[in-house]
Amino acid sequence: EHQFKRKPEWLKIKLNTNENYTDIKKLMRSKELHTVCEEARCPNIHECWGHRRTATFMILGDVCTRACRFCAVKTGLPTETDLEEPKRVADSVRAMNLKHVVITAVARDDLLDGGASIFAATIKEIRKVSPFTTIEVLPSDLGGNEESLKILMDAKPDILNHNIETVRRLSDRVRSKAKYDRSLQFLANAKKFQPQIPTKSSMMIGLGETIDEIIETMDDLRAHDVDILTIGQYLQPTKKHLPVEKYYHPDEFKELKRIAMEKGFKHCESGPLVRSSYHADEQVEAASNS
Ligand code: SF4
Ligand code: SF4
Repeated sequence: EHQFKRKPEWLKIKLNTNENYTDIKKLMRSKELHTVCEEARCPNIHECWGHRRTATFMILGDVCTRACRFCAVKTGLPTETDLEEPKRVADSVRAMNLKHVVITAVARDDLLDGGASIFAATIKEIRKVSPFTTIEVLPSDLGGNEESLKILMDAKPDILNHNIETVRRLSDRVRSKAKYDRSLQFLANAKKFQPQIPTKSSMMIGLGETIDEIIETMDDLRAHDVDILTIGQYLQPTKKHLPVEKYYHPDEFKELKRIAMEKGFKHCESGPLVRSSYHADEQVEAASNS
């Protein structure tokens, strides 16, 4: 099978700035906050910040205790936890007038609760100042610690998102410390603690998996009661990261979405530029309408 290694046309997008975008960028600098949108140089940033009023904050610092082979976040031992951060995130959510916010974090394996209580505090602060913003949390597996997950679920986010990232066979090679089965269990536990809160997971494809393996991952996620799935093209952040094995065609992404919906996911975003938080505002609606 022919697999081309040059970036295909559909991944080249042109950037256009708009006012919202520039205002928000300034706000982030002044509040010393990190967004995945900026740090991962997400290609959707103008659409999300400008038109959709969605953003993804990365709390608990920008140094991660893990080193996944697809991820550009720095690895190291974080030295502090900023207890004022939840408030600053909440202020920004209000100032940006966000419709939907995604709160994610580096994996803090150095903290006893993996950072769960700071996640919970962030949810609480946002609810106080911006009650109509829907909140999605995207934590690591919190070390597989059920009590930590319970702290987070007790704060009642609108969506619990935890990424499976890749198929079972490639999981150990691609992810650092995280385990395929532990992630499935994590998603099932979230449902157990708060059955009414929709769960979500995301997969990057293009790392050498087969279509059958992608479908098997969908089955595994459904078997653990996951409601929402996103599938996007893996892109290599730097030469040191895993290479792209395949660029999937937009039609293949469409076909995967069709299969996912047949498997019973309530919502699926699937496309070359789809990221875990892409069109997340629509997913909340889809999951709560059913
Ligand atoms: Fe930010 Fe996610 Fe939108 Fe990218 S898709 S700009 S990371 S909210
Ligand atoms: Fe990146 Fe998350 Fe892996 Fe840390 S745990 S290296 S932030 S993907």
